[in-house]
Amino acid sequence: MSNDKIKVAVTGAGGRMGKEVVKMVLEDEALQLVAAIDPSAGPVDAGTIIGAGETGVTISANLAEALNTVKADVLVDFTVPQAAYSNTRTAIEYGVRPVIGTTGFTPEQITELDELCQKQGIGALIAPNFSIGAILMMKFAAEAAKYMPHVEIIEYHGDQKLDAPSGTSIKTAELISETRQELRQGNPKEEETIEGARGGYYNGFRIHSVRLPGVFAQQEVIFGGHGQTLKIRHDSYERAGYMPGVNHAVKKVMTYSGLIYGFEHIMD
Ligand code: NAP
Repeated sequence: MSNDKIKVAVTGAGGRMGKEVVKMVLEDEALQLVAAIDPSAGPVDAGTIIGAGETGVTISANLAEALNTVKADVLVDFTVPQAAYSNTRTAIEYGVRPVIGTTGFTPEQITELDELCQKQGIGALIAPNFSIGAILMMKFAAEAAKYMPHVEIIEYHGDQKLDAPSGTSIKTAELISETRQELRQGNPKEEETIEGARGGYYNGFRIHSVRLPGVFAQQEVIFGGHGQTLKIRHDSYERAGYMPGVNHAVKKVMTYSGLIYGFEHIMD
């Protein structure tokens, strides 16, 4: 019944997330790996880079060439911002539904890609966070902020992360701001005796970024009220934690037309 399987191409197959995607596709009988693309990881069998057996799929360097030789239903892309936009365009042109985890798309690019998808009558998903727990943490934080508007966010990542605060903490802060009554927290006369001690200021509240070796990705949203605090915390321990979300997205993207931005919109 291999014809019923969803045929998946993976760009960035040699990268940290890409390898997890290749593994996830090979482990799901409803999915079939048909192409793996990475500029410098090939040409070797895609199975060898994840320590699995032969898959019959050789890693190639160019997406369009790969899509000329195989029929794919879905492209999963975890690459770099410079490549992800053109990979997405190429996929849509070939009638292949993109599921994009790479971050850094502009709102204009998203609108343009949505129009292309509508024209082709295919679905697409761009999701800056595929972690189901992280999405729930954001939803619950936005809900709590309606009732407990005093809030601070602490996010923890590895010490080599370039940007601070994290994209997820900014997204959380945006969602909190949509439900929280406007208010500038803390003592108006407070002064930092060490610069940065109170963290980054966002719309009346603070975001703190911890950077340490050994940490992968964690976030805590702390609400304070009369005589009580509420803590909503999410811990990611490994990249495999994103894969249930990617797997769900690969199946879901087959069922709708147009581009959806954000995994939270397809979770049900
Ligand atoms: P990574 O380990 O650096 O992997 C990126 C891979 O993409 C590399 O193997 C790179 O190959 C390859 N690549 C570059 N240009 C390409 C192209 N034109 N076609 C095909 N492959 C290409 O990075 P990562 O940690 O896997 O992260 C990848 C992206 O996913 C980042 O944007 C990250 O922020 C994002 N991310 C998203 C989520 C989410 O939930 N949405 C979670 C984690 C990470 P070379 O090394 O040979 O250049």
